[in-house]
Amino acid sequence: MTAAVLAVQGAFAEHEKILSEQGISCLELRKKSDVEKSFDALILPGGESTVQGKLLRELDMFDLLKERIEGGTKVLATCAGLILLAERIENDCRVHFATMPVCVRRNAYGRQLGSFYTEEQFGQLGKIPMTFIRAPYIESVESGVEILAQVRGNIVAARYKNQTAVSFHPELNGDLRLYEWWLNG
Ligand code: GLN
Repeated sequence: MTAAVLAVQGAFAEHEKILSEQGISCLELRKKSDVEKSFDALILPGGESTVQGKLLRELDMFDLLKERIEGGTKVLATCAGLILLAERIENDCRVHFATMPVCVRRNAYGRQLGSFYTEEQFGQLGKIPMTFIRAPYIESVESGVEILAQVRGNIVAARYKNQTAVSFHPELNGDLRLYEWWLNG
């Protein structure tokens, strides 16, 4: 199994470390020809969604990657990655892949002091660690979207077909359950 990790900006190295430790080979997506290679799964890391969206377009990776997502490649999107997938962004006129029928709010917990840690129920996995860094949350979902986790009454994880998106950073806490569930699901 090869997992591609979008590596134009943000927290991609941490995901790669975890995947490598699980025996998964990682392909860094840095340019268009990388997206043309074969891979079975895709990680969209946290970072800055506006920068990632801009670079994806400038590097001519955007359309190919969108096709891969729409074609059914298994995706795990974290934080900024969730924003890239969202069909609507409540407080931003930009949208990016727009492949997931959810509406998100960027920097939903406040810009500077919006970082925190908690442990909450995630799907059937029990409580898992969740680190939020200037995170979005999901304001609303359309039919077909399964809600996987909520924190303080807000949706922070959801799945739609092949796309799983979380607004926290699972790569930062050394808890592998979410990755194992995603890889085996
Ligand atoms: N605030 C960032 C954005 O809007 C997301 C933060 C993150 O990925 N940790 O893109």
